[in-house]
Amino acid sequence: MSTNRRDFIKFVVAGAVASGCPVDLSLLAAPTEQNPEVDGEDNRICHQVRDGEVFTRPPASARHDVVIVGGGVSGLTAAYLLRNRDFLILEKEPHWGGNAYVMEFRGNTYATGAAFLESNEVAFGLAKEISLEPLPVNNWDGSIIKGEFVPDTWGEGLDKLPYSPSIREGFKKFKKDVLAMDAKTRAKELFGIPFSDFMKGYPEEVKQWWDTYGPSNWGAVTDETAAAIGILELQALAGADRKDNRYTWPGGLGAITRRLAEILLPKYADRMQVEASTVAVASEKNEVQVTYVHGGELKTVAAKAVIMATPKFITRRIVQGLPDKQSEAMQRIRYIPYPVVNLVFDKPVFNKGYDTWCPGNTFTDFVVADWVVRNKAGYQQKYNILSCYTPMPEEQRVSLLTEPGARRVAKNVLRDFQKLFSSSNIDPIEVHIYRRGHPLYMSTPGLFTQSQPLVRVPLDRIFFANTDSEGPVSTTAGAISAAQRAVREMEHRLAGKPAPRRQESVAVAG
Ligand SMILES: Cc1cc2nc3c(=O)[nH]c(=O)nc-3n(C[C@H](O)[C@H](O)[C@H](O)COP(=O)(O)OP(=O)(O)OC[C@H]3O[C@@H](n4cnc5c(N)ncnc54)[C@H](O)[C@@H]3O)c2cc1C
Repeated sequence: MSTNRRDFIKFVVAGAVASGCPVDLSLLAAPTEQNPEVDGEDNRICHQVRDGEVFTRPPASARHDVVIVGGGVSGLTAAYLLRNRDFLILEKEPHWGGNAYVMEFRGNTYATGAAFLESNEVAFGLAKEISLEPLPVNNWDGSIIKGEFVPDTWGEGLDKLPYSPSIREGFKKFKKDVLAMDAKTRAKELFGIPFSDFMKGYPEEVKQWWDTYGPSNWGAVTDETAAAIGILELQALAGADRKDNRYTWPGGLGAITRRLAEILLPKYADRMQVEASTVAVASEKNEVQVTYVHGGELKTVAAKAVIMATPKFITRRIVQGLPDKQSEAMQRIRYIPYPVVNLVFDKPVFNKGYDTWCPGNTFTDFVVADWVVRNKAGYQQKYNILSCYTPMPEEQRVSLLTEPGARRVAKNVLRDFQKLFSSSNIDPIEVHIYRRGHPLYMSTPGLFTQSQPLVRVPLDRIFFANTDSEGPVSTTAGAISAAQRAVREMEHRLAGKPAPRRQESVAVAG
């Protein structure tokens, strides 16, 4: 990187900073250094709840039919489905969207989280219903291995992997063996054992590839992934009837939450509160009381029902009176820290594939932000924004808590990215990191078959949405299904009818 060029790299500290993220404002005093923009969750109140802070509940100052806690895609979907009822939705961040949230750089949208959906998922139908036409990805994922870009890794790419012939053969044998497995019939067994059990006897590069792919998609390396997830995924990627049925928008699935908010806000702004951190949800005789902090004040509202669309590690600390078994099942769900680092280039750097896997680096893969519109008539790419997905091991979570730690993560991502393209001079004009401490639950053995059925059991008038209720993989579709189920359960409860039956199935891949 040239020193002159570095002097012109701009950084901006924006968004949630003002609302209290622990950002070192000395960043602002060093504009000539290559510093990334740092944005992310505001967890002050959540950490106080975690640390046992006792909030004295004031008396209820308002009453609603239903309070929805959490304004990610699950909570927003619940609000959308309940728009004919008197709902109140509370979100701790200053914006809607949770893990499906887009940001913009000079009018160019990029992802901070969820990237794509599949055409057979409920998210596809919801997108169409809210007049968002999904755009096809139509490009099998490639990999960059030893500095070489290999398109369609698990298709034709297998013959081109820049490894020795015996390693290439090992990849092919792994694919053949996995495709021959009857994963659907064996689903129950395979959800209970690790994927790595099926990697013995193959080259370690195979495991390395899946240890890259897994954390980005389902939060876990092969030793910690339920085997069914990995096996079904490879069968979808490489089976004889494979079809790339992924769809998205520029910047990914934040387009859905943005549209949901655009639909709801004009009519219901007074019942949609951001920067409202819920600290207690308590069942009373014929209602539920929800206490939250907003504008520095504690408020309590009462409702006939509550939908908890927050992740379970938060839910179990807020909802009072959870049965021990349910609370323990919630506690068993593990979540990885997972920042997304966006590299903003003012010239084309990489447009060869939508999602490219990079084993052996601090980030796992990167996505071209405007991939699905790049060929549209009249479209000109002004900025090549590459979203680097950077799932981290749980023990490294602490490094995201401080701004210097987050900045180090972003710098390491940039360093590794530039090493991949060592022959060219590629300096971004900005580097943005969006950090999240626990956004993606891990698809560990037993999660889908044992923990999730327990965590979603309603507690009288309290219902549990959020993607982590559904499984087997954290998806926007799961978040939407969870909202639909919670709303159905709630309507039955308020109508005095027995709870609706759930169609259980273990043969679902993410
Ligand atoms: C980096 C990344 C990439 C991903 N890629 C994909 C993908 O390509 N495709 C896909 O389908 N899925 C993907 N996912 C998963 C997907 O983003 C999630 O499954 C989905 O967004 C979860 O939505 P949710 O509403 O269930 O939960 P969340 O998004 O976690 O929403 C919960 C909301 O509750 C709020 N909240 C928490 N505590 C409180 C409180 N005390 N009071 C009030 N509000 C509170 C949070 O701020 C948040 O907004 C990805 C996830 C990540 C992190």
